[in-house]
Amino acid sequence: MPACPTLRIALPVPLPQLFDYLPPEGSPAPAANDVGRRLRVPFGPRELVGVVESIGQVDDDVPLRAALEWLDPAPLIDGELADSLHWLSRYTHAPLGEVIATALPAPLRRGEALPDTHGWAWELTAAGRDGLAKLRAGTRPQRLAALLEVGAVNEDLLDDQLDDWRSAARALAKRGFAERVDVPALIPQADTRPGPTPNPQQQTAIDALNSCDGFQPFLLDGVTGSGKTEVYLRAISRCLQQGRQALVLVPEIGLTPQMLSRFRNRLGIPVHALHSGLNDNERARVWAAASRGEARVIVGTRSAIFTPLPQAGLIVIDEEHDGSYKQQDGIRYHARDFALVRGKALNIPVVLGSATPSLESLHNARSGRYTHLRLQQRAGDAKPPGVRVFDVRKRPLQDGLSPEVLAGIAQHLKAGSQVLVFKNRRGYAPVLLCHDCGWTAPCKRCSTPLHTTPMTVHGGGRRLQCHHCGARQSVPLACPDCASLALQPQGIGTERLEERLLQLFPDYPVLRIDRGTTTRRDALEQTLATLGEQPGILVGTQILAKGHDLPKLTLVVVVGIDEGLFSADFRASEKLAQQLIQVAGRAGRAERPGEVWLQTHHPDNALLHTLVNGGYHAFAEAELLQREAAGFPPFAHLALMRAEAKQVEQANEFLAAVKQLIPAQSSVERYGPMPAPMPRRAGFQRTQLLLSAEQRRPLHGLLSQLMAQVQALPLARRVRWSLDVDPMDLY
Ligand code: ADP
Ligand code: ZN
Ligand code: ZN
Repeated sequence: MPACPTLRIALPVPLPQLFDYLPPEGSPAPAANDVGRRLRVPFGPRELVGVVESIGQVDDDVPLRAALEWLDPAPLIDGELADSLHWLSRYTHAPLGEVIATALPAPLRRGEALPDTHGWAWELTAAGRDGLAKLRAGTRPQRLAALLEVGAVNEDLLDDQLDDWRSAARALAKRGFAERVDVPALIPQADTRPGPTPNPQQQTAIDALNSCDGFQPFLLDGVTGSGKTEVYLRAISRCLQQGRQALVLVPEIGLTPQMLSRFRNRLGIPVHALHSGLNDNERARVWAAASRGEARVIVGTRSAIFTPLPQAGLIVIDEEHDGSYKQQDGIRYHARDFALVRGKALNIPVVLGSATPSLESLHNARSGRYTHLRLQQRAGDAKPPGVRVFDVRKRPLQDGLSPEVLAGIAQHLKAGSQVLVFKNRRGYAPVLLCHDCGWTAPCKRCSTPLHTTPMTVHGGGRRLQCHHCGARQSVPLACPDCASLALQPQGIGTERLEERLLQLFPDYPVLRIDRGTTTRRDALEQTLATLGEQPGILVGTQILAKGHDLPKLTLVVVVGIDEGLFSADFRASEKLAQQLIQVAGRAGRAERPGEVWLQTHHPDNALLHTLVNGGYHAFAEAELLQREAAGFPPFAHLALMRAEAKQVEQANEFLAAVKQLIPAQSSVERYGPMPAPMPRRAGFQRTQLLLSAEQRRPLHGLLSQLMAQVQALPLARRVRWSLDVDPMDLY
């Protein structure tokens, strides 16, 4: 039987294999340089966009469909990015086609062409230069013309420099004074502005990075305000001088306009931002500009880790401990971990920076796998804040605030300073309680007979909302169980704190900042800007731990962290410690000394004690010992299989069948099927099977074997299931 060459294509479908197609009608025979090009293909009744993975061979008599059309003239995904995505598919045990789809911006996923990225600029004509003096001073056209006096200016830069410059440009063009010209994507901007002279610890870190040639992971472990960003900027600058690209990842709320302009000003070239605030086409343009080597510095959130870097020189992960780097649905990748894989494949240094490094990264630094760079003092003259713990047992509290704390707030406000009140609960109150019979308002879609998931009270006490499934309803007039009217919000959320602080401090602005008030990305910045430098109070959740510098902030009050002290999740202590240290780091970043006051009913709690007296690293040492004793990461490797169904039996039966597939002699330990910590959500019953192994290799060996068999289980089609390798938490 003669064999016929085929295109072996990865398609975005939940099946592990590749698919064979003939080339589109009229195209030449498949060739090696087709690998990495996209095609549109028929798939059942649908059409899909896939990427050629290899050239296959199929017997002549096997009926094959032909692909419909080529979408790229040349490979779109090749070289290092292709290799790294293969790795990611193997590591997450997710189909390659789905991994590739996750890596592509939406327009490319849909099959659109790689967008044009060449830039447009405006420049003065000869008539414009002669006529400049005739323009009336202060008008927009005159201001634009003045900007253009130096030569052609890129449209992106005009966006930054003059609002509504487009109408001014039209006015100038009409008089023949200016014209739009085609430019290469990069016009060098102003010269690099020198930063502050590095202090000795910064210099040591900079030297270590600069002397590094090839792949090397660094943990840049420095307290808030110690000048980590300065170190990144120096390393990026050097990378640019060598003609290479730098990729910087930041958590969603760390990517502020303030931060971008700091980068632009210092580096003196365009900095391309990639974040959820961009529309699909803008994202695709940045991706394309990076793939052509035109974008030299890319700063983005989680998914920016998929940016092609043909001339890579450096990857930086700022706030590497941040939970937003782990994608929690679809392809469950960790952008930090993937950054290390890419850094290795690209043979470039990777810098992980944090004031509160993850226990994983600290463990890697201690065992010598990462080079540990420490910055132990705040840069410049800023002093670290002093921390005080307030025992509030038996103290009269006003909506959770003790008299001492209220007096402290008053004092700081009077001195002209700003105060931040941190509470890790949004909404008005976490629970609505009937004072007569004890009924609490449950979310009907998320509760079970044995497990009540309370709804959070919002809208000053008028609305109920479930923070797990989003269900909303109004507060009932009377208790559904006993008809009593004594329904009371129990506990304290940020809304309730805001209400009380407004009453107590009517002469000062009180601004609440949490996910309820800052759904838009710039909202946080705008809200903080309205406060400016005047004395006032900020109330909010951990969103406040980031963003905008607040030089007038001198007091941080932490209330009600007690719930976090008793969470069952193995990562809860780590997250709590990181939140506390991060939010405390906001105090006194500038000339004035800062204070951090911590209110608690558990002043003797070991975690608080270690954290307050020994700092984050003492906490981390203790916590690592506990993780080791309990066999949790980084001393074990976990994978969590979750299943959801309307009937709990189905979900359990599916996971039991999966468990059956594991060979008895396997060194991988299995726990479950057991109810998920949140056993019902949005009407679905949720169960899970936890797999744990001391070594990564046997776990992954088992998973590769298992996944093919799991796909074939009849129940796999009737329940919703997913595999999460290295789960962040067991929820
Ligand atoms: P981090 O990223 O660690 O929070 P930054 O790099 O943002 O710290 O630095 C905090 C502040 O200190 C910034 O305003 C920065 O300009 C300033 N700074 C950083 N390094 C120095 C230095 N060596 N001398 C003086 N000021 C510095
Ligand atoms: Zn009641
Ligand atoms: Zn719910």
